[in-house]
Amino acid sequence: MPVDVPLARPQVRPATEGWQQQRDGEGRPLLQFASPKRGKPPVHLADLDGDERRARLVELGLPAFRAKQIARHYFTRWTSDPAAMTDLPAAGREELVAGLLPSLMTEVRRLATDRGDTVKFLWKLHDGALVESVLMRYPGRITLCVSSQAGCGMNCPFCATGQAGLTRNMSAAEIVDQVVRANRFIADGGLGGKRDGETTPERVSNIVFMGMGEPLANYARLMRAVRTMVAPAPDGLGMSARHITVSTVGLVPAIRKLAAEAVPVTFALSLHAPDDELRDELIPVNSRWKVDEALDAARAYFDATGRRVSIEYALIKDMNDHGWRADLLAEKLNARGRGWVHVNPIPLNPTPGSIWTASEPAVQREFVRRLEAAGVPTTIRDTRGKEIDGACGQLAAAES
Ligand code: SF4
Repeated sequence: MPVDVPLARPQVRPATEGWQQQRDGEGRPLLQFASPKRGKPPVHLADLDGDERRARLVELGLPAFRAKQIARHYFTRWTSDPAAMTDLPAAGREELVAGLLPSLMTEVRRLATDRGDTVKFLWKLHDGALVESVLMRYPGRITLCVSSQAGCGMNCPFCATGQAGLTRNMSAAEIVDQVVRANRFIADGGLGGKRDGETTPERVSNIVFMGMGEPLANYARLMRAVRTMVAPAPDGLGMSARHITVSTVGLVPAIRKLAAEAVPVTFALSLHAPDDELRDELIPVNSRWKVDEALDAARAYFDATGRRVSIEYALIKDMNDHGWRADLLAEKLNARGRGWVHVNPIPLNPTPGSIWTASEPAVQREFVRRLEAAGVPTTIRDTRGKEIDGACGQLAAAES
């Protein structure tokens, strides 16, 4: 039986709280796709493919095989410290390491919650730009939520990251280095302990691109980073593509491009509304690519990769949590076939006084019930890390 939910519910409209969205010439929320020109970060081993690494060594006047040795230190021992690389000749070692593994970011702050099982890192990049990553231990896996841009140009009204616009794209190595640094932190015993009987390997097993930035707006560097993550050791991190989740607010041409790559990552669409009227306001990029176009591209991703797509849907009280929206979402997904998609409703934390607040539990249950009744696989997502303002893609920034 449906739970007791009033039939006529109010409609809260998205609005920024305490800041103003930048507008374009036509008065619409400004969207920034191009990265502002800033000093580029130093070129790092993780920016280069195999041939480029060898060429770089030749440029430095060194034998090409050293590339593999250095890669092994960086990708499998998670170190950039020349003192630890005793298999390299002492003479010139420091210069060699500085040439291939320049320092990319320094840790500014670290914040642990969940008894040490969740740790948020704030990093300062070479030009002072700040980004963050969040490390989470779950039974059987360790997940790192990474940033792909400093700031973001997508201007979502709930998002702290988007407020200042896009600072710049991160380089592939800056993206990968978040994982290497997290692995070193875990190896040093930094993350909370394993549960009894748990056999999780002590390194990052899963990556979600749900930190700062819109990953598909930084496409080339994202793909270079992903290829390095999945490259077998010692040339890369040897991770499984299906354990890497690329999340987007719906950059349709880039979704189609991603579908054509031979790297079957898990793909997540942050939809948050099934109707254009609301989504135009909630996710400004919807003014460029509408709900139906984004869903068509998501379905094409499934067709090309066989990987089931995730639809992320933060449940916001009286804004997007109405029963008819659950029905409309189910209708739009089912119209594109069965078995290709999975919905993850994301419950927010209650935020008194804010319009960006949690749906009532009964409303959440009803939303899920309607999707399930329509045959759409639905799982309420774990919201770990939100208490420390985890991932913008999960609307957590609205709660800071
Ligand atoms: S929610 Fe994501 S896409 Fe939207 S402004 Fe924030 S970082 Fe960008």
